[in-house]
Amino acid sequence: MPIAKWTIKGIVDDHQECDCCGRRGLKRTVALMPLDADGNEDGTAEDVVYYGTSCAATALSWTQGRVTDTARAAQAKRDQHDAFARRMISIYAPVEFAPVRDRARVYYGRNQRERGTAMKAMEEVARLLAEARATLADTTTGPARPSRIEDFRRYVVLLTVDLRILRVLPVPEEESARQEQAAAAQLRAERMGGSVLVVAALDAEAARDVAYADDLTREWNTKAWQATHV
Ligand SMILES: [Zn+2]
Repeated sequence: MPIAKWTIKGIVDDHQECDCCGRRGLKRTVALMPLDADGNEDGTAEDVVYYGTSCAATALSWTQGRVTDTARAAQAKRDQHDAFARRMISIYAPVEFAPVRDRARVYYGRNQRERGTAMKAMEEVARLLAEARATLADTTTGPARPSRIEDFRRYVVLLTVDLRILRVLPVPEEESARQEQAAAAQLRAERMGGSVLVVAALDAEAARDVAYADDLTREWNTKAWQATHV
C-alpha cells in the first residue's frame, strides 16, 4: 500500500468536515499539504485537505497527540507570519507610491546596518509588501485576512516620557467618543510628561511598530489614512 506523505500546515475551526472519512460536525480539522516524492510541498492552498485528528493520525502513522501538538505549533507559526505581514504592510504600504527618496529613507531608517542604493530599497520594499500580501491572502488555514490600507484602523498610542509605549487603544468610530478618548489621552500624557500619537495600522501590534517608526514613516502613514478614509 503506498503511503501518502503529508505535512501539517495548521489547525482550523472553520472547516468542520473530515475530507478523509466525511465525518461532520468536528470542532476543528488539521490542514494537510501533500508532499512529492522528494518531500517538497506539492501544491497550493487548493491542494490542502482537512482531516479530523484521528484520520490525520492514521494518514501520518502518528499518535493523535503528536498530530494535535504539531498542528498547534504550525498554526502558531502561521499566526506569527501573519502578524509580521501586518507590521510590514502597516509600515511600508503607505510609502509604496511615495517619492523614491522618501521610500529609501523609510527603508534604510528601519534597516540601518544595510547600505545600498535607492533602487535596492525600492526593490526591498516591493518584495516585503508582496510577501506580506501573499501571506495574508493564503487561505490554507482560514479565510484571507485584511491587508489593504483601506483596512487600517486608527489607534491612540500613549507614550511615557522615555518614549515607552504605555497603551495602544483603537480609536472609536463615533465622533464624540473619539474626542473624549483624545482628551483623556492628552490629559494622561500631560500628567506624566509623555505624549500621544495617533497612527493607522492593520492591528494594535502593528500600530506599536508605526508609533516607534521615524517621523517620515508616520507622516506617510497619516497621509495614507487621510487619502483612504476621509
Ligand atoms: Zn476522517
